Amino acid sequence: MSQPHILLLGAPGAGKGTQSSRIVEAFDVEHVTTGDALRANKDMETEYGTPRSFMEAGELVPDPVVNAIVEEALTSADGFVLDGYPRNLEQAEELDGMTDLDLVAYLNVAEEELVERLTGRRVCSECGTNFHIKFNQPAVQGVCDECGGDLIQRDDDTEETVRERLRVFRENTEPVIEFYRERGQLVEIDGEGTPDEVWGKLKTAIEAAQ
Ligand code: AMP
Repeated sequence: MSQPHILLLGAPGAGKGTQSSRIVEAFDVEHVTTGDALRANKDMETEYGTPRSFMEAGELVPDPVVNAIVEEALTSADGFVLDGYPRNLEQAEELDGMTDLDLVAYLNVAEEELVERLTGRRVCSECGTNFHIKFNQPAVQGVCDECGGDLIQRDDDTEETVRERLRVFRENTEPVIEFYRERGQLVEIDGEGTPDEVWGKLKTAIEAAQ
């Protein structure tokens, strides 16, 4: 069959980025992620202003901007793992008109665990590899194990913005999870284990969906 179409849902910090990288490697699909696309175009002028102002406040970037990014990325992808979209019901309906999905997986993680993961996260400014000040320390503090780049904290990983991102998730994105659950499409995965444990369950779900 053709390459799988996978949607990965979960709150900020649930591990969508980490697991997406594994999916890309194991199933040879493209990683389509609105967060990375927006970070690379933070100062792009749109009729709503730049993405930066929304992102630094922890708010959603307006739908027309993100819908256009996803539509273009999906058109050129055979298989994909979509991460960070849809984040509200309007986006979920838009996605419905763009493509079909083989698997909708939801990584479920408790809120306090998410706050600890996000506020302790450090990201390589060169290659984007994630570390954590407690759970996944680099060999040398502040330096990326992979490429030697500087480790930084994302602007939106401060506690205040993290709390706001989680509020936005509860208000806007939890209804998206219900939308797929009601349709009988949702596969819920416990996202609280180690990355390897979560990957074991996710891989099994993808294989079962193929
Ligand atoms: P992420 O890296 O997925 O946590 O996304 C970082 C930020 O980018 C979010 O807090 C939003 O400001 C913006 N963003 C990412 N994806 C979307 C989306 N689907 N809709 C609106 N805003 C988004």
